[in-house]
Amino acid sequence: MINNVVIVGGGTAGWMTASYLSATFGPQISVTLVESKNVPTIGVGEATFSTIRHFFAYLGLEERDWMPECSATYKLAIRFENWREPGHHFYHPFERARVIDGFPITDWWLRQRGTGHFDDDCFVIPALCEKKSSPRFLDGRIFEQREGDDGSGLAGRSTMTEQRTQFPYAYHFDAALLARYLTRYGTARGVRHVLDDVTDVVLDQRGWISHVTTAEHGELHGDLFIDCTGFRGMLINKALEEPFQSYQETLPNDSAVALRVPLDMASYGLRPCTTATAQDAGWIWTIPLFGRIGTGYVYARDYTSPDEAERTLREFVGPAAEGMEANHIRMRIGRTRNAWVRNCVSIGLSAGFVEPLESTGIFFIQNGIEQLVKHFPDKNWNDQLRTSYNSHMARMMDGVREFLVMHYYAARRENNQYWKDAKTRPLPDGLAERIENWKVRLPDSQSIFPYYHGFESYSYHAMLLGLGGLPLQAPAALSAIDGTAAEKAFELIGQEARDLTDQLPSQYEYFAHLRKLP
Ligand code: FAD
Repeated sequence: MINNVVIVGGGTAGWMTASYLSATFGPQISVTLVESKNVPTIGVGEATFSTIRHFFAYLGLEERDWMPECSATYKLAIRFENWREPGHHFYHPFERARVIDGFPITDWWLRQRGTGHFDDDCFVIPALCEKKSSPRFLDGRIFEQREGDDGSGLAGRSTMTEQRTQFPYAYHFDAALLARYLTRYGTARGVRHVLDDVTDVVLDQRGWISHVTTAEHGELHGDLFIDCTGFRGMLINKALEEPFQSYQETLPNDSAVALRVPLDMASYGLRPCTTATAQDAGWIWTIPLFGRIGTGYVYARDYTSPDEAERTLREFVGPAAEGMEANHIRMRIGRTRNAWVRNCVSIGLSAGFVEPLESTGIFFIQNGIEQLVKHFPDKNWNDQLRTSYNSHMARMMDGVREFLVMHYYAARRENNQYWKDAKTRPLPDGLAERIENWKVRLPDSQSIFPYYHGFESYSYHAMLLGLGGLPLQAPAALSAIDGTAAEKAFELIGQEARDLTDQLPSQYEYFAHLRKLP
């Protein structure tokens, strides 16, 4: 085994990696994390993906341990507003489509309903979001939990690629508070924490990293170096000169402006979802945390200026934004060609980023860490491990890129040049053909991007039905199959949604209760 790992960077990527490696290897491997006092973290990654539960469970953390300390809340869905036309909304829930007589209920919906709200008809989660319900009862049970089942379909420690059932929620959290929490977790388990600037990355004769030089702590030597320096890619892109491949041609949003807005959640309430509201040059996220909202406008500089974007965001938030300082961020959209080069693995923004839509930044980090452990090198540094890791990471990001490009392409909104251009911009290889296929048959596991990228066919259904810009058809066979079972399923979903919203506490109530527990 290699036994000395040096992580450069102490943002979400750095601390998630350090804590995961310490939970995995304990004292067998020494982990040092060096982070700058002077270079701030990006600090805005606040919404996650439902697979995040594997990360906390792997660390042995219960929700009541870490959620109150990180102002965390539940996320059951993304609510898309105005992507079709002003005033329209729909939900992309963490909920698989039920299958009735061999066809997903979304196919039946196209056949038997076809107008109104597909999300309310096919899924129960949208009703929970509307009612601002908690997915857990006050005694801790999850709304759809069966006895003896923790919701993952798995026993013991697990990772995202083994997930068999769809876990019904993810989390929102304050990224800075989570990094602080994980700092305590990691250092208590032996991670050496160095607060200093890395001033140089020194290569040996083979071009491998031999050590990094710091301003005040001398040289830090290691076998394996993890680049968590964010968009800088100080080790992977700068020192090792691995090229960055931009996705800008297909995903034009390259900037964001963010605000943290304190709110009285007792009266405002906590809707258990992220909201993505379409705007003239991008979209605005709204993430309810316990005590404040995180909000930001993701936009393309080719279509609006930072000043205009900030004005739009402030108008959107209203008086609560007064006096709040805006954080302007330039985004590097794309991926480093190979995430792992020689003895350096990049994780986080240094490895790649596709823009915040669908909240996949932390999902990339988690998958990067899980795969690193699965591909962990020994002193032979087998090339095959690197190749396998790199193709896994590249496919994941390329797959998510495709899913996001589809959001803009398939949105009915076409009110200005930004949204018109989204329909004529070049599509990533293979997507045009897939879209033609989806127009005659909703996607299934065989007709979406063919490698693991975190999204299943039901997510594509939710987006295509919600965005409303593409013509969709029910399978012809359904006109000759008795639809009684499907009608019953629609009724059952409606009834379940009504029962649950009657019985579940509000999300605010749930967290107020959790915070009072001893
Ligand atoms: P950073 O946070 O940039 O951390 C870099 C670290 O490197 C810092 O600690 C810095 O001090 C250190 N460093 C840099 N140079 C040196 C040096 N020379 N010496 C020592 N240390 C150094 N993801 C989601 O999953 N959900 C979201 O909702 C979401 N929203 C986002 C919104 C925006 C606008 C953006 C830009 C990103 C968003 N992301 C989101 C992505 C998410 O923020 C990142 O994936 C996550 O924060 C990880 O960042 P990082 O740790 O890679 O980099």
